[in-house]
Amino acid sequence: MEDVGRSLPSLDLVEEFSCRVISRYQKKMALYLLEIAGMDGLSRFRTERSLPFGVIKHFRRVMDLFDESTQYLLGQLRHRGIIVQCKPDCSYCCFNMPYGLSTLELIWVYHGSCLTGKSSRLFRRLLEVEELWEELRRRRSGHEDHDTSHPSACEREELLKSYQKLCQPCPFLQESSCLVYRYRPIACRMHFSLSPSYWCNPRHFQHDHAVRFNLEPGDCVQDAFEQIDERFGLNISHTMICGLLELTVNIMQFEPIRWT
Ligand code: SF4
Repeated sequence: MEDVGRSLPSLDLVEEFSCRVISRYQKKMALYLLEIAGMDGLSRFRTERSLPFGVIKHFRRVMDLFDESTQYLLGQLRHRGIIVQCKPDCSYCCFNMPYGLSTLELIWVYHGSCLTGKSSRLFRRLLEVEELWEELRRRRSGHEDHDTSHPSACEREELLKSYQKLCQPCPFLQESSCLVYRYRPIACRMHFSLSPSYWCNPRHFQHDHAVRFNLEPGDCVQDAFEQIDERFGLNISHTMICGLLELTVNIMQFEPIRWT
């Protein structure tokens, strides 16, 4: 049995180091996000289904900065002998349910999914996965009527773990590639494994011993996302599948976003 964990530094130290290393990137990300929060047109999105082109321009920069920050961090960790084992063709992270998405990220994924030209098929897959998710929530809550729409952090963690064990690929996953790769949210970009990447397979016998960490966006980024959420005022689910379905059906009514 491989015992990778014994030779690894404490995860707390890695996380603390990571936050420090990328904080300057996060401040820049927050500045771009705050510029988006101040743009005209966000509050009219619900009725007009259009957004200023500046939103795309700024948000692309935000996501590029996040990716730059992870590349820089990986280099810094490598320099200290800490090797992240994630591989380009590994997609075990895509058995997770992306959670904690801001409204802007949901809009971004929706825009990306419209560009694939496979919207109908993706919509059917989203519905299938949402059914599984809801079924799991009902089973975990013990009875049908229990309100599981606002689970505690602990309940949510358990729910996400149970979902991962289903090994249900994300609707956007096709032959180990993400169809909306450029538009995927931060929740899909932040997982890193210090143990062999195949340990992340929920069916692998070492899965429970895998050593992983998440590069959470800092408070300044979260605060800026919240300000944008308030401007949109859509109040949709932060769970990717549910939020996307609400956005597709209730707000966009299957139409693409108009960029003005
Ligand atoms: S959106 Fe893409 S990266 Fe995220 S879970 Fe789905 S397939 Fe994976």
